[in-house]
Amino acid sequence: MTKTRCPNCDSVIKLEKPREGAIIVCSSCAVELEIVSTDPFIVDFTDDWQDDWQDTDYPQDQEDEW
Ligand SMILES: [Zn+2]
Repeated sequence: MTKTRCPNCDSVIKLEKPREGAIIVCSSCAVELEIVSTDPFIVDFTDDWQDDWQDTDYPQDQEDEW
């Protein structure tokens, strides 16, 4: 049994046989997570989630300054 913690809600996620590159869904907060490594077992937010985060963190107004 392999365990890690959800980077979104910090609850424990357990998988019997994690596969690198697989997408899992947190049972507590329902966020989509990608298994980026199996040894050690590390999960991270999917690319879709990160795109949304970057859009809100960097407003388009800043591009006009270039
Ligand atoms: Zn979670």
